[in-house]
Amino acid sequence: MKILKDFNFENKKAIIRVDFNVPLNDEFKVTDATRIQAAKSTIIDILEQGGSCVLMSHLGRPKGVQDQFSLRHIVAKATEILGVNVKFVDDCVGEKADEAVTNLEAGEILLLENLRFYDEEKKGDKDFAEKLAKHGDIYVNDAFGTAHRAHASTTIIAQFFEDNKCFGNLLTREIESIDKVLNNSEKPVLAILGGAKVSSKITVIENILDKVDHLIIGGGMSFTFIKAQGGKIGNSICEDDKMELALDLLKQAKAKNVQVHIPVDVVAADDFSNDANQQILDIDKIPDGWEGVDAGPKSREIFDGIVNQCKTILWNGPLGVFEMESFAGGTIALGHSIDKATKNGTFSLVGGGDSVAAVKQFGFADKVSYVSTGGGAMLEMLEGKSLPGIEAILK
Ligand code: AMP
Repeated sequence: MKILKDFNFENKKAIIRVDFNVPLNDEFKVTDATRIQAAKSTIIDILEQGGSCVLMSHLGRPKGVQDQFSLRHIVAKATEILGVNVKFVDDCVGEKADEAVTNLEAGEILLLENLRFYDEEKKGDKDFAEKLAKHGDIYVNDAFGTAHRAHASTTIIAQFFEDNKCFGNLLTREIESIDKVLNNSEKPVLAILGGAKVSSKITVIENILDKVDHLIIGGGMSFTFIKAQGGKIGNSICEDDKMELALDLLKQAKAKNVQVHIPVDVVAADDFSNDANQQILDIDKIPDGWEGVDAGPKSREIFDGIVNQCKTILWNGPLGVFEMESFAGGTIALGHSIDKATKNGTFSLVGGGDSVAAVKQFGFADKVSYVSTGGGAMLEMLEGKSLPGIEAILK
């Protein structure tokens, strides 16, 4: 696996695929710069060696050229975070872009305009990728968030670099962290899968049954398992058509010696709203008119015990409807348990969409070992798929 350290960037131009797909407010100001921050280490390493950086990214889902999706909106923020003036050119290919790249000197950064202003980007167009490739001597992929897409800038471009291509520091850490959980883990290994639906996590569950000793199934997903086993779940969310599959997954787990833990009690609400009436109920005795919206106190205690026994933890998906303050307690309690375990030497990886939002919101982001930056990409890796953006560098 080729990484940044394998190259000398002195007087070289690096063409770097970053993920600067950041949220903007109505005034086009960056509201969360985590992704820019995450790319800093790679960019600074290259500049310090005497190289220059040509940055390419997408922003949002433009239809053709649309100013609201222009990357020029993030130039000021990127300059502030990187501590180096970021130059900008309002195209990513063509004469203007070529000229800006030619004029770029060692120690400088140039940001190209939104790649998705061209349909060719998402189509993985080879000619377009070749034009992008001309902007650099070495191709660096540091965008984990798009590594599962075979787009021109994330995958197709790599074929124009033979050996001169590598992973950036961020992508390297992402790959190493997932590897530490799935392949090189210290036992016992625990996966915590929460969130709304079983259907979106089936392949993940099937794949990780071969890798873990314990599996916690929490959140809305758990009710499909409870109902399938004959429990009463009231109005809790459930995928009836996945009940048989749920039983089959439990059977597979048993055969593989994986201990599955499902909440034993829940916070139940009589309405899906923050100020609904609440009561604590056994998870399999929820009357009609009530729905389970968070893990109950007994479950939190049991999960705390399991978390503290394990040496490697993967957490994907909240234990309850954490967006509502009244139902965030289970997810927060789990965050505290993982924090404690991490302090005692456990490796903890949080990844995949909503759990990342939850750990950030509740202040656990710097208390776990690693927070993944790629939702879909992370899920696909957990499903055991190889990602085109990663494969293209390894080839
Ligand atoms: P996912 O994207 O599959 O990880 O699901 C995350 C979503 O699951 C969050 O928006 C949570 O509010 C939701 N969720 C978690 N637990 C429950 C529950 N018991 N009932 C309904 N939604 C839930």
